[in-house]
Amino acid sequence: MRRRDGEILAETIVYDVAILGGGPAGYTAAIRAAEFGLKVALIEKTTKLGGTCLHVGCIPTKALLFNAEIWNHLKHGKDFGIRGEGSLTLDWSVVLKRKDGIIDKHAKGLDFLMKKHKITVLHGAGSLTGAAHSGVYAVSVEKENEKTEIQAKNVILATGSDARTLYGLQPDDRILTNIEMLSISAPPKSLIVIGAGAVGMEFSSIFRSFGAEVTIVEYLPRVVPVEDEDVSKELTRLFKKRGIDVNTGAKVEKIERTEKGVLVSWTDQNGKPQQKEAEKVLIAVGRAPRTEGIGLEKTRIQLDRGFIPVNEAGETVEPGIFAIGDIAAGLPQLAHVGAMSGMIAAAKIVGKPFRPIRKDRIPGCTYTEPQVGSVGLTEKEAKEKGYNVKVGKFPFAGNSKATILGNHDGFVKVVSEAEYGEILGVHILGPQDTELVAEAVAVLELEGTVDDLMYTIHAHPTLAESMLDAYGAVNGMAINA
Ligand SMILES: Cc1cc2nc3c(=O)[nH]c(=O)nc-3n(C[C@H](O)[C@H](O)[C@H](O)COP(=O)(O)OP(=O)(O)OC[C@H]3O[C@@H](n4cnc5c(N)ncnc54)[C@H](O)[C@@H]3O)c2cc1C
Repeated sequence: MRRRDGEILAETIVYDVAILGGGPAGYTAAIRAAEFGLKVALIEKTTKLGGTCLHVGCIPTKALLFNAEIWNHLKHGKDFGIRGEGSLTLDWSVVLKRKDGIIDKHAKGLDFLMKKHKITVLHGAGSLTGAAHSGVYAVSVEKENEKTEIQAKNVILATGSDARTLYGLQPDDRILTNIEMLSISAPPKSLIVIGAGAVGMEFSSIFRSFGAEVTIVEYLPRVVPVEDEDVSKELTRLFKKRGIDVNTGAKVEKIERTEKGVLVSWTDQNGKPQQKEAEKVLIAVGRAPRTEGIGLEKTRIQLDRGFIPVNEAGETVEPGIFAIGDIAAGLPQLAHVGAMSGMIAAAKIVGKPFRPIRKDRIPGCTYTEPQVGSVGLTEKEAKEKGYNVKVGKFPFAGNSKATILGNHDGFVKVVSEAEYGEILGVHILGPQDTELVAEAVAVLELEGTVDDLMYTIHAHPTLAESMLDAYGAVNGMAINA
């Protein structure tokens, strides 16, 4: 290791790869590279590994969602013959403690995995210091007032993203991003959510279950805009049924703090001005890649709308410098995409074969009530690509397991091409879809056809049987509808 003043502190280790960022992209790349036998350094700015996903994203939201699910079940306990004395109360401090316990357990799990794979973990802000010398990069690691440098033949940038805000507003106790929302001291009585992508929809669903009066304001014409149009339409209907006020095609004009909370003004889809006041506002309008302060200006890398352009292996224009996860251009900002990009970058570094990520093979999950799980082309996209499209749709109303769960809203929609019956996309809205979609991903990966799947046995009674019925429905031959 070499200090900035040039003094050599110990014998200089040249790592095969140094990774900046210990989120799902970075730690997965680190583990896979170590599995390939490489000498790996993982640099993480904060004191804990896990990134957005573990600390303020995927994991805490799903912990709260599970709480919300239990709460919903208990509220309908009488339907299941469960009676308690007095009324139910929610101890929010326990909800938060449970969520924090889950995060803690998995952060410790990551520390264990780093030790197991003999990965050197350095806590501090990493940055590139300039061009490689004899194929070796120097990476600066800065912690408080201490600055050190490490040497590595390859560098993987995996510094993730931050929530975007609107009109330069800084988050506080009333205008919140995902970070503040996940540590809120009590569920708000009223909440306006700006943005109806996965993050906005999940928080809306969770806090509606905990009793908040929720209003969604979305600029685009539909909620979950990347999903099949039928999914957006039905999810909107079901959210409205749950008492959520859904406003699409709505342009937010102003967000003002008031005596009691926050006032949001917007122009609705008919051009009319609208206003609503709520205790809290959540801004969920997308995530900006964290590319500042990592030394990109010392390289030839040019950002594309804030993201780092990469090829199918995650390589940037600088030989030996990779970018993966939320900072990389061209792929959705999802933990499982970042993790797979990390595995691919590690394979590329050691010269092992890998399969590039195909956008139409990435599962998209929105953990709302009901959930959305999808993969592949939507009906509209398949038509736009010139396929002769055949669609099958099966409602969960005909699925006995859904009835047992007391949750039969939604459907499975299969998009296939007419000639060979190849399945191009599967779009599920309903109970536990984020689990069900795994089957559809495998089907698309293996280029399954409707005929293959119509004769694939699905256990009874399961939610997965609805997939079998949906494949059958493509040929007008569902059994249970
Ligand atoms: C509320 C919410 C819910 C989500 N739910 C899901 C979900 O259910 N499923 C899903 O797939 N995705 C979900 N996501 C998206 C997911 O969290 C991200 O796609 C994922 O975390 C990106 O991984 P990453 O490793 O690229 O970045 P991050 O997870 O952001 O990790 C980057 C890491 O780099 C560190 N870092 C930053 N700068 C430096 C530096 N200079 N030096 C060293 N370290 C640095 C950061 O401290 C951080 O630990 C959710 C996001 C949010 C906000």
